[in-house]
Amino acid sequence: MALRLYNTLPGKVEEFRSLAGNEVRMYACGPTVYDYGHIGNFRTFVAVDILRRFFRQSGYKVRHVMNITDVDDKIIHNSARDGVSVKQYTEKYEKAFLEDSATLNIEEPVLVHATGHIQEMVELVVALEKKGFAYRADDGSYYFRIARFPEYGKLSKKDFAGMEDGARVDLDEYDKDSARDFALWKAAKPGEAFWETSIGSGRPGWHIECSAMAMAELGETFDLHAGGEDLIFPHHENEIAQSEAKTGKPFVQFWFHARFLLVEGEKMSKSLGNFLTLRDLKLKGYKPSSIRLLLSSVPYRHQLNFTFDGLKQMSSNVDKLRNFQLRLTQAQLPPGASEEMQQLAREGVERMKSALDDDLNTAQAQAAILEMVRKANAAMDSGLAKKDDAPPLLSALERFDEIFAVLKDDDAPKMKATLDWAKSQNRSDISPELQETVGSQSVSHADIEKKIAAMEAARRTRNFPLSDAIRAELNAAGILVEITKDGIRWRRK
Ligand code: AMP
Ligand code: ZN
Repeated sequence: MALRLYNTLPGKVEEFRSLAGNEVRMYACGPTVYDYGHIGNFRTFVAVDILRRFFRQSGYKVRHVMNITDVDDKIIHNSARDGVSVKQYTEKYEKAFLEDSATLNIEEPVLVHATGHIQEMVELVVALEKKGFAYRADDGSYYFRIARFPEYGKLSKKDFAGMEDGARVDLDEYDKDSARDFALWKAAKPGEAFWETSIGSGRPGWHIECSAMAMAELGETFDLHAGGEDLIFPHHENEIAQSEAKTGKPFVQFWFHARFLLVEGEKMSKSLGNFLTLRDLKLKGYKPSSIRLLLSSVPYRHQLNFTFDGLKQMSSNVDKLRNFQLRLTQAQLPPGASEEMQQLAREGVERMKSALDDDLNTAQAQAAILEMVRKANAAMDSGLAKKDDAPPLLSALERFDEIFAVLKDDDAPKMKATLDWAKSQNRSDISPELQETVGSQSVSHADIEKKIAAMEAARRTRNFPLSDAIRAELNAAGILVEITKDGIRWRRK
């Protein structure tokens, strides 16, 4: 079966076919770097990361471009307010965003900066004006004349008939009721950052940034464009208008939009006090692996309700997966293979693939692998497993992890980085849980293995007091050691 994806443009699920051979060219709207990224942002970025990883697992070569919006209304406003340059203002948040993305094991796309592509944007404005799609207002700003583009509204399915021709909107973000000719280029205003260009001094509107950079990096027509559902209108509608008016060709084949998440059943907002950045969660002691698994636990088109109970559940799921992987690598199994275990591995892989092929049903994909783990653990408990059963099960876990990326035991250094950052910021909300996680996770996998080997050696010479002492030492460091008939097993508490 091939990948089927919901495409916002026709409004239905379609089989994905790339435009050129096995290459996928995709563009995702990146962050506006004016604050720390919140979990809503990361819900969308994790969804795009899962898509990219699944394309690759399905045999595609992926060219994934993402913009960093480092100039827009909010940035101009905030940097002027703080009396710093746009660059000084955005650098800090861009760095934080990239660190947070890495914490969540989001693979880094090719990054493009709005401020690095002003020339391409100016050229696009000039081309649109030449073709009659853009006009210059008295103050030197440029607008897109939406009445000249009859297909305006085709993505958001909004009907703009009867709208007043020539009415304008200057804001980057606005709702459908104020759909108007939108700003492509904003003439410089006193006290605001601007660029000197052939169309005058000013700065680009937000929408033109993405059209210009996407086409510069991926060509006039490319495979897929992604973002959160809030971007359908006006941002993506405007991107289509700008790009297609210029080229006369379809801009994008597939439009991929992730649904907004809720926090504890409510829309996340600063005024409700349920606004959570990734850093807030880590400060509370929640591990990046649990956060990533939760953010990907509901298919991207469904509403994800982010709860603390959910995070705890995910932490336990991560442990189950990691412990099973460890069990498979550590178990001393009798030679041979058992058909039952082989079948479990095969089914796990197949079910995961068909779930993801089905418009990225991540919930079912996770359930398929967790079920494989549960059944395989039970089979191992009853002594069914053989030596040759471990490789296919391990490889099923690896395939899972190529997409979900939670198996690597690397939460400790990531939590430590957050703790150090919080201390440097004199944050008062560092939780005891964070300190504890950093403490209990600070022993490396390799060190634990060494100590376990020492325990085994001690037990072989019947030096039980030494074995017990090592066990107690591990226990104190937050490592639980179990002595079973298969050998010694351990896990982090
Ligand atoms: P921004 O930095 O606001 O431009 O947003 C970056 C990305 O996060 C965009 O793709 C948005 O659509 C997405 N986004 C913002 N808020 C949420 C949310 N609550 N849930 C899901 N995605 C969101
Ligand atoms: Zn964009």
